[in-house]
Amino acid sequence: MAQQDTDQSVNDEFIVDTEDCEAREAAHRERGTSRPITVYGNPVLHRECRDVTEFDDKLAQLIDDMFASQRTAEGVGLAANQIGVDLKVFVYDCMDDEGVRHVGHICNPVLDDLPADRRVLDDSNEGCLSVPTAYAELARPDYAVVRGVDMQGNPIAIRGTGYFARCLQHETDHLYGRLYIDRLSKRDRKDALRQMAEGTPRYPVVAND
Ligand SMILES: [Zn+2]
Repeated sequence: MAQQDTDQSVNDEFIVDTEDCEAREAAHRERGTSRPITVYGNPVLHRECRDVTEFDDKLAQLIDDMFASQRTAEGVGLAANQIGVDLKVFVYDCMDDEGVRHVGHICNPVLDDLPADRRVLDDSNEGCLSVPTAYAELARPDYAVVRGVDMQGNPIAIRGTGYFARCLQHETDHLYGRLYIDRLSKRDRKDALRQMAEGTPRYPVVAND
């Protein structure tokens, strides 16, 4: 009992994003409008986004639109610049390696530096809605903590393991203008771009000029 209480107090700083997932995700998406996805080469994806400073109805609408767009594109995470909006926000609807679903959003996210003993690398396959039809193996830590604020401006922290940890890192990267292919070797990056050039996205995208 005492052991569990100790664990609980440690966990308190993290938001609960595993309850009522279906209802919460559906509510966002039903209020939102699905928008086309920006793809590799669009400048909005290749520069740092602006911090969110206004926690108003417009931000709430943006988050709803992001959930709608994420669902249309069958994504597990989506950053605002992936629908062309230059703001540091991402949403997610992602399973971790225990098969637990996580649904939520965060503004102005910053990843914690991991202590050396938590840096276990996992080299699973990764893909991105903004690099349609391409996949590549990429080694990332299998644990991540991201801190920021929610749509009301309240401080929050999100913790992820396995594939969800990968998602938290991938989406935070987006908001700093970095795609996962930017972390690949030159050769693997080229291969991913070739896969993208040869494939056809199964969801609406914004054409590049
Ligand atoms: Zn992505």
